[in-house]
Amino acid sequence: MEPVLEGRELRKVYPIKTPLGRLKGVVRAVDGVSFSLMPSEILGVVGESGCGKSTLARLILRLEEPDGGHLYFQGQDVYALEEKALVPFRRQVQIVFQDPFSSLNPRMKVSTMLTEPLLVHRLVESRAQAMERVVQLMERVGLSRGDLDKYPHEFSGGQRQRVGIARALILDPQVVVADEPTSSLDVFVQAQVLNLMLELMEERGFSYIFISHNLSLVGQVADRIMVLYLGRVLETGPARELVREPLHPYTRLLVDSVPVPDPERAHLHTLPPLGDVPSPLSPPSGCPFHPRCPRARGICMEEPPPLRDLGGGRRVACYLV
Ligand code: SF4
Repeated sequence: MEPVLEGRELRKVYPIKTPLGRLKGVVRAVDGVSFSLMPSEILGVVGESGCGKSTLARLILRLEEPDGGHLYFQGQDVYALEEKALVPFRRQVQIVFQDPFSSLNPRMKVSTMLTEPLLVHRLVESRAQAMERVVQLMERVGLSRGDLDKYPHEFSGGQRQRVGIARALILDPQVVVADEPTSSLDVFVQAQVLNLMLELMEERGFSYIFISHNLSLVGQVADRIMVLYLGRVLETGPARELVREPLHPYTRLLVDSVPVPDPERAHLHTLPPLGDVPSPLSPPSGCPFHPRCPRARGICMEEPPPLRDLGGGRRVACYLV
């Protein structure tokens, strides 16, 4: 089976300037990230804030121009396409943002927000037909026909994220990228929205890139997981195995950070103080994780370890694994 989406050595570098406009340094937000996404698969992308998750999402949607690498959608090189030729890609690859409030146009009624894309992409023959499809989808995401006349500020956070999901799905995409889609919601609403997204994925058969800082959450829904740190991939593998037996010291740190409800076992998950993530403006030499790694040694500070294939779909960038 061929991947529906494939990224090869994706790179994005941001120049950082002083207030007087002089170059102060660069941030390598995404630094040689490769991945593949199979049809109907959920790929989880995990990492702390500043690891490059959101930049990667924007590169995948071509909302940012890359500084290197290739992105293939159904075998076509997306970065080689002119803006006009991107239209079918933009229809097929959609995003659900973390903050539904800032991602929805505050001056647009939901009815316009959902019918316009259908008309622009000529997926319907009339406004009435567009409205029919919109009403069906609204009901499927748990909203009513009456909600179509509302503006974004008239909804609760959870309802707004349902509007965001409807907007992402109205064009029937093949890939949905969800960037921390539930992290701005309270726990009960989070579960409802997440379940809705999984049900819709099953019904419609799209593939899903689920981006989150929460390894425990991603471990529950993803087929495979990719762990990012300072713009690099440190580990990838089948979700269950990666969570049960993390190989990279950073993945182990993430697994051990998951709160344990059982007080008897809680001490097993108490982490030694490991310090903060280094500034992306002056990343460490060698392995990006070495300043926090309890197992670091000389070689770790010299060269970044390559991402080695260990078989069984597992790849790890660590000298000691
Ligand atoms: Fe730790 Fe070295 Fe492995 Fe990096 S390469 S994770 S510093 S042991």
